[in-house]
Amino acid sequence: MLPADRHRPPRDYHGVVPELDASGQFPLTIGEEPRFCPACAQPVVPRTLEADHRPRLVCPSGHVTWRNPRLVVGTLPVSAGRVYLARRSIEPAAGLWSYPGGFLESGESAQEGARRETEEETQLRVEIGRLIGVYSRPHAGVVTILYEAAIVGGRPDPASETSEVRAFGPDEIPWDELAFTTLESGLRDWIASLPGRGPRFEPELYVEGDPE
Ligand SMILES: [Zn+2]
Repeated sequence: MLPADRHRPPRDYHGVVPELDASGQFPLTIGEEPRFCPACAQPVVPRTLEADHRPRLVCPSGHVTWRNPRLVVGTLPVSAGRVYLARRSIEPAAGLWSYPGGFLESGESAQEGARRETEEETQLRVEIGRLIGVYSRPHAGVVTILYEAAIVGGRPDPASETSEVRAFGPDEIPWDELAFTTLESGLRDWIASLPGRGPRFEPELYVEGDPE
């Protein structure tokens, strides 16, 4: 069964939503605004460049310090119709269930990063499958790409940043103990994609806060 409350507002993140800063914005995961140019160490100031639409951090030499959202990649590892989740052992959301995933590294493809994170956190070796969805969290400055993955080896044991790895059938998902709304959306999309479970599957392009 899909949860019936799809239209409820996003619930809190068990305390991990950061405090609003002085300007009423959520601080981004990309960190504090840099004050110095990474290329030449001169101070940077916000300036709107010609033909651009918002201010950028620019140094006197004209180097632009780009500030863009970060990419998180992860998987729903599936075997025999059950999905493996990992219980987090670190903050944020310690003790709650998450998908294996993390920040994409430079030089990696999204699929490579998702496979690496899955192996690091669950000790499962996986083959990346279809796209489950792309989930935007503008207030956090994060975009998450979530794939289904087939388990091709390893054992489901806790590892880096996790304390337990367990498989759940579609009717056994611990909806009230999920670490992130992205996982909630991803699991709903995964379940909707299963035979007899939902309408024809289209990968979701989900933006948190959209009225749907
Ligand atoms: Zn510079």
